[in-house]
Amino acid sequence: VDDVAPVLPVVGADTLVPLVDGRRVPYANLDVAASAPALQEVAARVERVLPLYASVHRGAGYLSQVSTALYEQARRTVGEFVGARDDDLTVVVRNTTDALNLLAGCVPADPVTGEPGRVLVLDVEHHANLLPWQRGTEATVLTGGPTVAATLAELRAELADAAGTGQRYALLAVTGASNVTGEALPLAAVVEAAHAYGARVTLDGAQLVPHRRFSLAGTGVDYVAFSGHKTYAPFGAGALVGRRDWLDAGTPYLAGGGAVRRVRAGEAVWHEGPARHEAGSPNVVGAVALAAACEALAAVDPQRLRAHEEALRSRLVAGLAEIDRVEVAHVWDDAADPVGVVTFTVTGYDPGLVAAYLSAEHGVGVRDGRFCAHPLLGRLGFDAGAVRASVGVGTPGSDVERLLAAVRLLVEEGPRARYDVVDGLWVV
Ligand code: PMP
Repeated sequence: VDDVAPVLPVVGADTLVPLVDGRRVPYANLDVAASAPALQEVAARVERVLPLYASVHRGAGYLSQVSTALYEQARRTVGEFVGARDDDLTVVVRNTTDALNLLAGCVPADPVTGEPGRVLVLDVEHHANLLPWQRGTEATVLTGGPTVAATLAELRAELADAAGTGQRYALLAVTGASNVTGEALPLAAVVEAAHAYGARVTLDGAQLVPHRRFSLAGTGVDYVAFSGHKTYAPFGAGALVGRRDWLDAGTPYLAGGGAVRRVRAGEAVWHEGPARHEAGSPNVVGAVALAAACEALAAVDPQRLRAHEEALRSRLVAGLAEIDRVEVAHVWDDAADPVGVVTFTVTGYDPGLVAAYLSAEHGVGVRDGRFCAHPLLGRLGFDAGAVRASVGVGTPGSDVERLLAAVRLLVEEGPRARYDVVDGLWVV
């Protein structure tokens, strides 16, 4: 895929990085799933709005009015990007982790038993979509089966059993795409099963929203959470978008200025709407940057986004499969349309060493470890971790070829430099 070009230009694409032999080479960023480089359009928007920002919502000055308008417009753009329904709320948060923690504080108690709301999750989830449900809500973690069909059947059976015994689930929290393998369950079937038994669906959209066109209205998903820094915008802004009623009734995520209508000593009347959960001065520039990324992605034909990513992903998987001693991870035998995240191991080499070698000898950036998905890595037999390569709209095909050539060289000839573990990290 040497000739596959990026779909959208990103900043930093021509960054040179030092190799252990003293050469400098262009950085091949294959760690987009962790944090994606900003789009050039996003950087340009940030530069334009930086001189314009001032206090939001409470300032009467002209720049305060401009900032407020920019912030509220950004909120609308972000909501539209994920197909928000007319009465959905878009809460600006820091990232996916923040969004899911916020929602966990809003899951209502069971109306019959008065017990904390019950949440069903699979063990394929990122910790951000596991741990929040273990605080304040009652989480059940299912393992699922070797196929999508078997896993859906297990989910359906669990939802049905619970409803049958009066222990109905309030929420099914699923990933839009695994940050380990890029796979996901088909959303239509997930939503149909959950809604049939009175449960809502929350989507961890961290790895889906930047890579596929997603719509709340189109899928019936109730809530989606995602991160700006994985959506080609800078760190610090993300969103939780979805049904208003739980958010309006839930515990305000942060207590402080902006979230309250009236305060007396020992008493507060909280706002409804997004302000309820956005106490403190908001991240105007971050929200505007995220909105700019949403606009730029929305302007690209979704088929083009998919085709670019699919070309790179299938080359990665096929190329790695041809190399001896390399094993590629997958959760289900029949998952459709995975995103561009590929996790693998090289027998005989610690994943940390592989990642250090790719960086030091080839200028290729990947990630190693257990990717904040310990239950899944354990189940897949990768307790010692693995290596993850991931691509996005700014990835040229030549970066994928560089990774494949480097892994082949490692297997055939071994590393040239000597690697040691220092303070738990592999270094050259
Ligand atoms: N869910 C998934 C699937 C992810 O990949 C990540 C980030 N690795 C998160 C949640 C958490 O995102 P953030 O760190 O931006 O909160």
